Amino acid sequence: MSERKIRVPIVAANWKMNLLAASAEEVCRTVASELGESTAEVVVFPGHVLIPAAAAELRGSRIAWGGQDLHPDDDGAHTGDVSGPQLADAGCTWALVGHSERRQDHGESDGLVARKVAAALRNGLAPLVCVGETAAERDAGRTLEIVSRQLELALAPIVEAGDPPPPFAIAYEPVWAIGTGHTATPAIAQEVQAAIRGRIKAHFGHEVSEATRILYGGSVKPDNAAELAEQEDVDGFLVGGSSLDAEEFLAIIGCC
Ligand code: PGA
Repeated sequence: MSERKIRVPIVAANWKMNLLAASAEEVCRTVASELGESTAEVVVFPGHVLIPAAAAELRGSRIAWGGQDLHPDDDGAHTGDVSGPQLADAGCTWALVGHSERRQDHGESDGLVARKVAAALRNGLAPLVCVGETAAERDAGRTLEIVSRQLELALAPIVEAGDPPPPFAIAYEPVWAIGTGHTATPAIAQEVQAAIRGRIKAHFGHEVSEATRILYGGSVKPDNAAELAEQEDVDGFLVGGSSLDAEEFLAIIGCC
């Protein structure tokens, strides 16, 4: 990590729809016991049914856990959904919001993402808001426009929550880099993440923008994490595939 950085990085595991209870427990047990001297904050996002298994291993460690999604309402007739109160009740302190796979698979709009951010805040969950452009949008030179648009709506409930804002973090995840092995270059990650910090500064001022963690996600591996982590505006990672293997995930944490 760059010596200039004052921000404690976050390394988060997005397990997506992977693992079963036994393998989830094993990964959590290994990561918790081998975390060593890393000062990074570590967060695990298990599939909803795996949260109790993960929590049983992580409770008492310094690793936090969160939900991969939540419904904008706190209860009601929403078959198959999970609510903010349910996540909080399961010990979650974070909620992943706006992941591109939710946007693609479930047609989540920026407006819905904003309502989910509000639901997370209402329930004491720190939203980790994912933004990022598709390959076509990048090719059309629209990256910063797309990311700014996604960010504007998602930040609105955080602005409304008052000053100082409640805890939140942003993950820049270019869609073309997720699960493809095509990691963004450090220069691309830095350019977009500096722009994201600029948007945060416009809403919350210098102090908050300097304190906000902006993660990079998309094919992060032990062999590309160190170079990315050196970038001034890369404050950790949201890791998919490589978070399913405890040793790989620990190696990435070790780069931060
Ligand atoms: P990946 O996924 O590391 O497997 O590319 C990242 C993510 O989607 O959060």
